[in-house]
Amino acid sequence: QIKVGILGLQGNFLEHMNALSKFNVDSIKIIRKEDLQLIDALIIPGGESTTISTIALSMDLMDSIRAFISSKKPVWGTCAGLIMLSEFIDGNSEIKTFGGLSVIVQRNYFGSQLNSAIRTVNIHDKDLGKDQIKAIFIRAPVIKSILNSPLTSIKILGTLESGEIVAVRQGNILATCFHPELSDDDTVFHEYFFNMIKESK
Ligand code: GLN
Repeated sequence: QIKVGILGLQGNFLEHMNALSKFNVDSIKIIRKEDLQLIDALIIPGGESTTISTIALSMDLMDSIRAFISSKKPVWGTCAGLIMLSEFIDGNSEIKTFGGLSVIVQRNYFGSQLNSAIRTVNIHDKDLGKDQIKAIFIRAPVIKSILNSPLTSIKILGTLESGEIVAVRQGNILATCFHPELSDDDTVFHEYFFNMIKESK
């Protein structure tokens, strides 16, 4: 039985817990560094990356989460969670991220107003089992560029029709600009993440 931790500092961690319960996967909310020892994988939810970062710093969680990310256990960031995993934020910033993902991310790419939309994402990895999904974007970021180095290998998993990169995998890190935990019909990213967990064990 696998146990997935959901970082519960701020944002939509409850929706992630509900989504996991539909797959009968155990989850716990992570708010202290000790909690990280109990889990096989970690989800960093959407919310406000500024707030998540501030709370993580004030609760002295930065180093432990970074250690978890480099431990090879699977980590999945959605939306603000993806921002927190990015090494660099375009134009910025005051925000201290956990890092791990060798990308430059652009926050609020689709507009700064409460900008939500269902968009078609083209899938580029057969392991996800579909060519296209409909995905929910809420004041979402996009991955502006990938920082290639001989040591990193990032796989682009999803792009918009207009070309923007919105889902990637780098080793044990999965990152999506959208919110699979909020859509009922597309379970491909959850199944992909559960496979990453099984492979890591
Ligand atoms: N706009 C938010 C940020 O920059 C992310 C929005 C979300 O997670 N739904 O952190």
